[in-house]
Amino acid sequence: MKNNVLLIIVPCYNEEEVLPESSLRLLSICKELETQKELKGKILFVDDGSKDHTWEIVESLSKQHPESISGLKLAHNVGHQNALWAGMEEAAGKCSAIVSIDADLQDNEKMIIDMAEQFLEGKDVIYGVRKEREKDTFFKRQSAQSYYKIMKLAGSDLVYNHADFRLLSERALIALLSFPERNLFIRGLVRQLGFKEGYVYYDRQARQAGQSKYPFSKMLHFAVEGITSFSIKPLRIILYSGIFSQIVSILIIIYALYEHYVSNTVPGWTSILVSIWFIGGTILVAMGIIGSYIGKIYYEVKRRPRYFIEERLNL
Ligand code: UDP
Ligand code: MG
Repeated sequence: MKNNVLLIIVPCYNEEEVLPESSLRLLSICKELETQKELKGKILFVDDGSKDHTWEIVESLSKQHPESISGLKLAHNVGHQNALWAGMEEAAGKCSAIVSIDADLQDNEKMIIDMAEQFLEGKDVIYGVRKEREKDTFFKRQSAQSYYKIMKLAGSDLVYNHADFRLLSERALIALLSFPERNLFIRGLVRQLGFKEGYVYYDRQARQAGQSKYPFSKMLHFAVEGITSFSIKPLRIILYSGIFSQIVSILIIIYALYEHYVSNTVPGWTSILVSIWFIGGTILVAMGIIGSYIGKIYYEVKRRPRYFIEERLNL
């Protein structure tokens, strides 16, 4: 192993309320790593363009603990996945393994010790898996559960109840960073790596303080992103429903001609109206789905940079 450094990467967006507590808890994990596992635990806070005092807190933490805490300030808010990516690119070549964890430590940080153990046994990708979600709101829990189910139906092979709490060995990290796509869905990408995988199980805690930075709109966006980044099933569904409505329309044409010659009644406008709406709706849905793929291609071909770094501390 290169230098025995295990770097804990923490994306932070407006996390001033949780950082003081979270940093203390992570520092004590670093100590444990040092005494129990002979790994040098270090922490990298990635400030994802926060509008509160997150960066000031990171600055003072990095002054107090120059050995263990470093900071990366992104020039503007690019979202959790991109912020994590920025931290991982910064980490590449500087450590033997990384662990990614959310700033609110809803994912039990003590599991990092177990992850380290499996890493030392030779595993490359170790997933943190939530046992239960009792502390989340009912709505959050339901939407998260159905999300994994939909993803599975849509064809993305995700680890059930695993979010972005995971350990990656250096070679897994380098492999992950070689994916060039801009629409990032990291938990789907790590499944493609194929190195030795391990799992740790834990109970998810309630957020210590502050609000979830994932409101429903962001969650919905993320869910759609996950499906369209990893599966062409929606495209196939369009094809099948297209064939289906073709068959239906042939039957309707036959029926309309039959009515025209056999009966004298003026055909009711209901059937026309219904079919206009039905077909119109189908076309719109289909176009929407195709459009979202075209939108993806649009972003991919632009090859835009994922983030800009404004400042580095202790790096
Ligand atoms: N986050 C980020 N950029 C964003 C939104 C969130 O870096 O634009 C970070 C946030 O600070 C936290 C993690 O992503 O460390 C997960 O966010 P949160 O805990 O609010 O999500 P939830 O646990 O409610 O899904
Ligand atoms: Mg959270």
